[in-house]
Amino acid sequence: MCSIEEDDVLDDGMSSLMTPQEQISHSSQKGICHKCGQDGELYKLNFREAECRCCFLLFVNHKFRSTVGSSKALPRNAEILLVFDGSSESIVLLDMLQKAQSESNFKRLHCDFKVLFIDDYEVYKSICDINDYKCYIQQVKDFLLSYHNIKCYVTNLSSDINQEPFDINDMDIYLNRIMEIEIVFANDINNIQTSTSRNEFIKLRRKNLVASMATFLRCKYAFIPTINISIATDLLSAIVLGQGNNVAYDVAFKDDRLVNGIKIMRPIKDLSETEVLLYMRARNIKFFDRRDHVTYASSSLQRITESFIRNLQKNYTSTVSTIIRTGNKITSNNHIFKEDDSEYKCCICNSSIINSKTLSAVRYSRYVSERTSSISDLDTSYTKFLNITHKKNENLCHSCENIRRDSDINLIKRYL
Ligand SMILES: [Zn+2]
Ligand SMILES: [Zn+2]
Repeated sequence: MCSIEEDDVLDDGMSSLMTPQEQISHSSQKGICHKCGQDGELYKLNFREAECRCCFLLFVNHKFRSTVGSSKALPRNAEILLVFDGSSESIVLLDMLQKAQSESNFKRLHCDFKVLFIDDYEVYKSICDINDYKCYIQQVKDFLLSYHNIKCYVTNLSSDINQEPFDINDMDIYLNRIMEIEIVFANDINNIQTSTSRNEFIKLRRKNLVASMATFLRCKYAFIPTINISIATDLLSAIVLGQGNNVAYDVAFKDDRLVNGIKIMRPIKDLSETEVLLYMRARNIKFFDRRDHVTYASSSLQRITESFIRNLQKNYTSTVSTIIRTGNKITSNNHIFKEDDSEYKCCICNSSIINSKTLSAVRYSRYVSERTSSISDLDTSYTKFLNITHKKNENLCHSCENIRRDSDINLIKRYL
């Protein structure tokens, strides 16, 4: 069985203090590869000797293959939907999967895959020029079409979940359509009161969209381009947001919380940002403008968590891997519930719900503080309130309860 080399060997000094971008420019030197002795451009990763382009590509592709292969969660000839968002991570994932699928018979990854480009224009609408946007869309289309014989589709965060995705060749029809219709999604999103809930809402929306598009395209598995820093951020954010019981799913290769049985997989979860950027250079792929600096508002808990991890990572290079390894040790109590026990599942995100004393106390004190008139018997009226919400099939996890509090119930019904 393949294994991934641990990152815990001695550090080489200076390179650990650099950002991924600085490391890329620092590592663009020529010399002798320590592995195969070839003379040429060198690729230098933290904790590894400088190596040539071929040895580097072999190393990162091996990481991808070992993640996909080690859990045995992906059956032979699986139908996969690759979620593409224009990020460098998604470009690398597409390139790696295409390579793995077109290897010679012995090494070949036996699967069929389609690409779904999720265009998140609505999120950027207010800050992005329409011509820049069209130019960006054209770039994405050209890039995807440069991979021959792969079916590519496009959909949008604001799309009706029952609307089939557009073929990438019909990009003009798609563009006309989203330009014509009055797009209310951005306004709706802005009506969510806190940026933390806004981010969680978009995350859930994206997941649901992936689930329904995968069903349309008859794929049982969805590959998402999440790398190690995003896993670490999701993990700590989940704990901060009161989803501690479900963090095991946030770090795992496979996440089966989607309602219609589609399984989300993270095949490049062990890649770092530097590895992604070096891979792009090694394969001579140029960047798209992803505009990801506006994905999160700076005040959101997710953004603060991310910058906390990034700052720590600058001085302590094992930060991300330590967080992830700790996360791997956290298991949920889900096994005590039956698989189909909807009683204990959140009706929005499908995560399991546990009876946490702390969360019950938070709920109770919120209930009390929201009452304007005085209530003689608080405990009885609170029990009644719980019974009503329970009957309405409103089992909500703590995080989704916060989303509902910060937004309109119709918004949740319309999009989630
Ligand atoms: Zn080499
Ligand atoms: Zn939930």
